[in-house]
Formats: sequence, structure tokens, C-alpha cells
Amino acid sequence: MDAERETTHVPRHRRTGTAGRVLRVLLMAVVAALAAVLVTGFLNGDPRITALFPGVNVPGSPQIGKPQPTAARVPDAPPPGLEEADAPLASPTAPGTTNDSYKFLATNDDGTPVGYSPCRPLHYVVNNATAPQGTDALLATAIANISAASGIQFVSDGTTDELPADKREPYQPNRYGDRWAPLLISWTTPEAAPALEGKVIGTGGSTMYSLDKGPKSWVTGSLELDTPQIADLLSEQGGADYVLAVMQHELGHVMGLDHVDDPIQLMYPEIGAPDGLAAGDLNGLHLLASAPCRKDI
Ligand SMILES: [Zn+2]
Repeated sequence: MDAERETTHVPRHRRTGTAGRVLRVLLMAVVAALAAVLVTGFLNGDPRITALFPGVNVPGSPQIGKPQPTAARVPDAPPPGLEEADAPLASPTAPGTTNDSYKFLATNDDGTPVGYSPCRPLHYVVNNATAPQGTDALLATAIANISAASGIQFVSDGTTDELPADKREPYQPNRYGDRWAPLLISWTTPEAAPALEGKVIGTGGSTMYSLDKGPKSWVTGSLELDTPQIADLLSEQGGADYVLAVMQHELGHVMGLDHVDDPIQLMYPEIGAPDGLAAGDLNGLHLLASAPCRKDI
């Protein structure tokens, strides 16, 4: 990778099934500690951490070459500002209730959360080769709900045979043309996506990008759904509500939300009451709607 940008794969967060409370709390603590070490180490240019991301430039590390002008074409990235409008494509209404039960996966130096540009659509493709019957409508509902809360306009680019990968390349011109790769939503299995092993029923996250040391934005993401577990869930009464909750939880990660300790929120790491997005989730997504527009990337 060149020196004028950085891309970071945020550690995937997972939604567990029915793990016990003690195990869950322990896991959350371990995940939080590990994430803190990784993020802190990465941002500080800690060589033990940055070594995990070979070739990735980090803030504070030596810059090679001159910074690119804002709108310059960067190698291994699409032309900047594709489909970028002058203003956000939507103005979602503020949640009726203020609630601070939300956390962000990443923030910029000024404390603002890293989000997608609200001025361009977010294209997505679905690998639905193993999708259980009837789940297209559930996914459409999940996307509509997240879009309404975040203002991000999702555009379906149809299906794909791309398989989930641990470190997915955010720019794949041979497969998707000269643009950022679309969000990849995969129906898959723990065999193909090891992060889904055990009780984990879904994973989701996004890849951030910045020019030089500038602000970061997500440019694409991926979301994996455990086909066998979800098929089982759908066979139970009320299972569809849980599946919808799983999809919205993972889309919340894709948008930039982290887990919270509040079991009422959809971003609680375990499936709780499948009541949909709660006040904290909605407040977090609404803040992400104010992410900056990015004609420069
Ligand atoms: Zn999660």
C-alpha cells in the first residue's frame, strides 16, 4: 500500500447466541481489552500492533512522499468522490428520546464518530447461495430500518459469488469496477467464516480509509450471517423477529456502532428481546448521520 492513505480493518464484533452471562461478560471484557490494545497501539504506531497490519500507514509514523492534493487519484483506490452529492442524501429525524447507550467502533481525533459519507449511496451485494427461504424480506426490512435511522441510502447491486474473507480488499476493480467494493452481505457457515464458530450467529464491520492524516470514513464493509443457525432460528415460533434483530445488530456494526452493556439496546452483544432498535441505538445511528461528506475519497 502507498503512504498517503491508511486502511484499517476494524476487528469484527459478534453477536452471540445463548452463551451464559458469566462467559459473555468475560468475553466482552477480553474483547474490549483486546480492541483497546489494538486500537491504541495502532493509533500510536506501536510496532507490535502495526506489525499486524503490514503496509498500513498509521498516524505518527513516517510519511513517505508528499501528501496528495485533496482530489488527487490515489493508486489502489477508486477516483475520489464517486456519486458524492453536495449535501447529505437524507435528513433523518432526531430520535424522540435522548439516550446515551451507544458506543462507536472508531472515532476521529476530534472525537467525532467514524461513519460512511451521508452524501453518497452505500451499494451492497448479497451472496445468497445458502440463504434460507423468506429471508430476503427480512434483510430488506433490516436495511430499511437502519437506513431510516442513519440516513445512509442503501442501493442493491444484486447478488454476488464473492466469499467472505477475513481481510477483504476494499477496492476490487476487476470484480466491481472502478469504485469502492460494495458492502458484502454473506449467507455463510462457520466452516467458511471461522468467526461464526460456536454460538456466534453473525458478524459485521467496515473498513475505514483516510488520506494522509485526515479524517477517517468507512468506505465499504461486510456482514456474515450463519445460515445453519439462522435456519434453526426461523423454524422456531417468533424466530423471524430474532433474525431481524441479528441483521440489524450486524448492520449497526457496519454503520460504526460498537457493543454496549445495556441489555435493552440492540447493540448489546447477545440476542435479547427482539424489539428492534432501541433509544440508544437510534441516538448512535443519528449521530453517524452527521458524518462528513467525502468528495476527497
Ligand atoms: Zn455484535
